Amino acid sequence: MTQYKYLLQEKDMPTHWYNILADMKAPPPPYRHPGTLELLGPDDLKPVFPEALIAQEVSTERFIEIPDEVQDALKMWRPSPLYRASRWEKALDTPAKIYYKWEGVSPPGSHKPNTAVAQCYYAKQEGLEGFSTETGAGQWGSALSFATRLFGLKCKVFMVAVSFQQKPYRRIAMETWGGEVVPSPSSETNAGRAILAADPESPGSLGIAISEAVEYAVTHDGYKYSIGSVIGFVLLHQTVIGLEAMKQMEMAGDYPDIVIGCAGGGSNAAGLIYPFLKDKLTGDRQDLRAVFVESTASPSMTRGIYAYDWGDTAKMAPLIKMHTVGHTFIPAPVHAGGLRYHGMAPSICALLEQGEAEARAYHQNAVLGAAVSFAQAEGLIVAPETAHAVRAVYDEAMACKESGESKVILFNNSGHGHFDLGAYDAYHRQDLPDYELDEAAIQKALTELPKIPA
Ligand SMILES: *Cc1c(COP(=O)(O)O)cnc(C)c1O
Repeated sequence: MTQYKYLLQEKDMPTHWYNILADMKAPPPPYRHPGTLELLGPDDLKPVFPEALIAQEVSTERFIEIPDEVQDALKMWRPSPLYRASRWEKALDTPAKIYYKWEGVSPPGSHKPNTAVAQCYYAKQEGLEGFSTETGAGQWGSALSFATRLFGLKCKVFMVAVSFQQKPYRRIAMETWGGEVVPSPSSETNAGRAILAADPESPGSLGIAISEAVEYAVTHDGYKYSIGSVIGFVLLHQTVIGLEAMKQMEMAGDYPDIVIGCAGGGSNAAGLIYPFLKDKLTGDRQDLRAVFVESTASPSMTRGIYAYDWGDTAKMAPLIKMHTVGHTFIPAPVHAGGLRYHGMAPSICALLEQGEAEARAYHQNAVLGAAVSFAQAEGLIVAPETAHAVRAVYDEAMACKESGESKVILFNNSGHGHFDLGAYDAYHRQDLPDYELDEAAIQKALTELPKIPA
């Protein structure tokens, strides 16, 4: 009898997050101040983030305790199921064994509330009134609107304009949970007004929306800024995914040869991959392949350079040493709005540089094609972001078919695509453009990187 799913009990949930900084050969270089370009002092982030989160950001403790109230909130949808994609394996006629962790079971439908509830807990502890944030496709804004409500906080969301227009249902979901949503660039901040003055039709970008949200936080009493990806503490909170998956793979009697996640800022991929990568870094699983998959529309890992860059367009966020296509780069309006960030999480970038992980990029027709194949076998209609991971799994499964190897492939099914059916519709109608990125545009954006003092 085929076993399709591996389920944990609430009592089996992780009580600690895993901090990969404790096991990396070398940690990523520290953040720098957006204005002076000097190394950030411990107080520089205090106006922006809750203090407990700043402490987590610099911690090198291997395991960090998950507060009871956070565990309690996570229990609304966790532990999440791990599935064996037996039907898809059959459809692909591959000897590969494919598993996926399904994060679409959270109320907002993605992995994102895993960190949202943690951040809201610490904000509440600190006595804050609310959070401001940005959102691309609307998933992060949904997660934070949901989580702020659980902890009695207010939520101000700057939503990338192109997504605000393409995805009204996400806005309605955010408003239902009590979030206040404005399209970005907006006229509510200096950063937004400057962009609108130059281009009243600006489709916006995550970089611009981050600038607006940070500016809003530091100019409104009782508010701080909540971030959905890229930063270390976000990746830390997402490790509940991989920690659960390790137990579930053990139940299945398998260990992955390849672990795959799609990467916008890198949080869901790292959340699944890092607990497994610990086994590679600390010795006994040296053949494990960790694969981060991005969009060709925003190819930071595959075509960007590894350098310090601002985290946002208006240069308000700290400088991060990361793979970047430049903070001024505005990616094409692909449906995977969550993969349109110009940079990548610094720990992932350091791991790529250290040869512990690999990256690849796909066009949207390739990823939607794989997502349709997955949906027709497994039933789940995944988010366009997630579809990038699905495509990478497809290619690995096909390589196994070619070679006759029966590799174990595990991927993070980061969320459902129920609000993103427009992407599937465009694919079915063969009306989905594959954006060929102009090398000159990337090169131009890269000339605007900060000049770091020697
Ligand atoms: C936001 C999002 C992503 C991309 O963000 P990461 O921080 O890279 O994980 C991927 N999948 C889904 C479903 C998302 O909502």
